[in-house]
Amino acid sequence: MRTRVIINLENFRENIKAVKERVGKDRLICVPVKANAYGHGALQIAEASLKTGADYLGTADVSEAAELRKGGIKTPILIFSQPHPDEIPEIIKENLTPFISDIDFASALNEHVTAANRRFAEVLGSAATNVKFPVHLKIDTGMMRMGCNAEESLALAGHIASCKGLKLAGTATHLAVSDSTEERDIEYTKKQLSLFKNAVDAIRASGIDPGIVHAANSGAVILHPDSWLDMIRPGILLYGYKTAKENKSPSDHYNNLKEFKPVTVKPVMEFKCSITLIKKVKKGESVSYGRTWTAQKDTFIAILSAGYADGLPRLASNKWQVLINGRVFPLVGLITMDQCCVNLCTDDMKTLPDIKRWDEAVIFGDYTESKRDAAALAEIIGTIPYEITCNVSKRAAREYV
Ligand SMILES: *Cc1c(COP(=O)(O)O)cnc(C)c1O
Repeated sequence: MRTRVIINLENFRENIKAVKERVGKDRLICVPVKANAYGHGALQIAEASLKTGADYLGTADVSEAAELRKGGIKTPILIFSQPHPDEIPEIIKENLTPFISDIDFASALNEHVTAANRRFAEVLGSAATNVKFPVHLKIDTGMMRMGCNAEESLALAGHIASCKGLKLAGTATHLAVSDSTEERDIEYTKKQLSLFKNAVDAIRASGIDPGIVHAANSGAVILHPDSWLDMIRPGILLYGYKTAKENKSPSDHYNNLKEFKPVTVKPVMEFKCSITLIKKVKKGESVSYGRTWTAQKDTFIAILSAGYADGLPRLASNKWQVLINGRVFPLVGLITMDQCCVNLCTDDMKTLPDIKRWDEAVIFGDYTESKRDAAALAEIIGTIPYEITCNVSKRAAREYV
């Protein structure tokens, strides 16, 4: 096999437990499995989540959710992004839970549900009950993406409540800078949360049940206990990466975090390939397309079976190191579509290390000491671990352990 992507479900389950311990066992947890569970395999992660007590799943769109239903997942699935009205029949058929940002979409969904209810009533007579289809109201408190404005939220909640075919099962918002430890970002998150709580209070005060109230993504699980509410939606944290920092400064905000159990998570994905060839390269000879790297002395190069089409970003060319037999070796030359090269004789080495053809090379994974993880790789190329794990392509076979 050219590449192996090992998904450690044990680590994943431990991460869920660690998060649950922090937020309290009674809080509901929605596991985001969008983008093929951040590259980890949506169905396998969904199944592992449910075994570990997850209450909801979240996908980006209807097709991802339908895929899970096909795999036998019966749990409520939140659709995080705005579906197209053409997808409403499938939303109903697969019993998916959309976020509602506006009256138009709520009305269109309501019409489909009430039409279906009428058809049932015709077939079943008076025995048919009116199905109320659950939806979550999404309130935009400063992310400027999905959701209605906070000022419109009471009217939209009222509209949903007045729809015969709809039930307000939840109310949510999404935080823009919850993972940041900058003072102004902490303030922004507090402002978002207070807008949200006021909107939810107004809905309650008008006699409408807001359902499950939720706001917290991974950053908020770490930095903002007042965002945990009825349910949390941490993604990257469950896949083993922390983007937020804890207790870094002695401000009141951080002192208040001390009473909560810290979260320790482990990366779930490990990305490996193998050495397909070892070759001698003489001083002055260049390696790969564009001739971006030239040997400064006679050396040995290992050719690896992973390239940018497998998910090793081309931007990491000449910047990243891989782990072979417990030692770190630098990538040299441009990463190509299907292969890349490492230098086996770096300057500090006197002899050729004991490395053989077909030995395994770790591109990233759980190697805390040598920092070969997706977050370190992301940092080197100016992105975030989310993008690294999401981009590990289908071609790289997943193995679940
Ligand atoms: C992706 C997503 C999350 C999870 O975000 P993380 O930063 O991975 O924790 C939560 N809620 C919504 C609406 C999302 O789209």
